[in-house]
Amino acid sequence: NRGRNQFGYFMQSMQRAAQKKMRTLNDLRVALALDQLRVLYQPIVELASGRIRKAEALLRWEHPQRGPVSPAEFIPLAEESGLIISIGDWVFQQAFHQAMRWRGSIDPDFQISVNMSPAQFRRHSPGAGHACHPPHVRAHPVLGRYVGTEIVVEITEGMLMESTHNIREQLLSFRESGIQMSIDDFGTGYSSLSYLKKFHIDYLKIDQSFVLKMVAGSDDLALCEAIVVMGHKLGIKVIAEGVETQEQRDLLTAAGCDFGQGYLFSRPLTAPQFDLLLRGHNYC
Ligand code: C2E
Ligand code: CA
Ligand code: CA
Ligand code: CA
Repeated sequence: NRGRNQFGYFMQSMQRAAQKKMRTLNDLRVALALDQLRVLYQPIVELASGRIRKAEALLRWEHPQRGPVSPAEFIPLAEESGLIISIGDWVFQQAFHQAMRWRGSIDPDFQISVNMSPAQFRRHSPGAGHACHPPHVRAHPVLGRYVGTEIVVEITEGMLMESTHNIREQLLSFRESGIQMSIDDFGTGYSSLSYLKKFHIDYLKIDQSFVLKMVAGSDDLALCEAIVVMGHKLGIKVIAEGVETQEQRDLLTAAGCDFGQGYLFSRPLTAPQFDLLLRGHNYC
């Protein structure tokens, strides 16, 4: 509206942004092929005992020129392009092998949770006109191989609610094969509470936005307490994310929250760093 020159400028900057996206995506493809991606593991601590019982696998990309690129930037690109499918498979493999190692050396019940994007389910959506498909199609080609409880799949509330019939079938087939499920960022989306029961959800992860501002007497604490009570009534364990202070830890422990994850305990670590932490003292 303000004249041709400004319009032109706008178009140019849009084009530059699109070009940058394309470059980043190309670099990401190369990074996956050249094994330049890394998985870090952030400890998840059992609040009652202080023991490290689980970890969350978090993807890292060290760009050869740009340095570390945040997953908040490259995961959406990978989702848009479908590259998340290959990346996601790779993360699962890493996490699975790491979980097996820690089960052997540290704790036979150790679990690693892995973030899963909707696109990782969508590849299995049947095309139009295939309303019925045989049961074997339901088995996920990568997850289907992992039939233990080593891995917990983290999905968001939105995925539970907006999921198509095909995704719902896949989630239920995960359950049948023993894979556990966790609802990530709980409280920020919307979910029908009946779905938590229907899908036999194992864990709720209270979003860090509730935990970060939590002080005694706050609404955020009241929400956390309510989530814990509700979860426990449904047989679901509750994990609080973003625990940064001792006060938050104490309030969550008093509220009966089962697990905590956050900088108070540890930042995400490389597997060797995690090994040291586990061997030195399994307690936080
Ligand atoms: P998320 O799943 O909600 O992961 C938690 C994020 O909070 C992580 O950020 C973690 O490093 C950060 N965090 C942990 N403790 C604290 C704390 O005490 N305080 C604060 N302020 N932050 C804390 P990160 O690693 O940057 O990951 C961002 C998001 O990228 C993740 O959010 C997840 O949605 C996505 N992501 C990461 N790895 C993967 C992956 O392998 N696959 C998929 N699909 N998504 C991933
Ligand atoms: Ca997560
Ligand atoms: Ca989260
Ligand atoms: Ca998140």
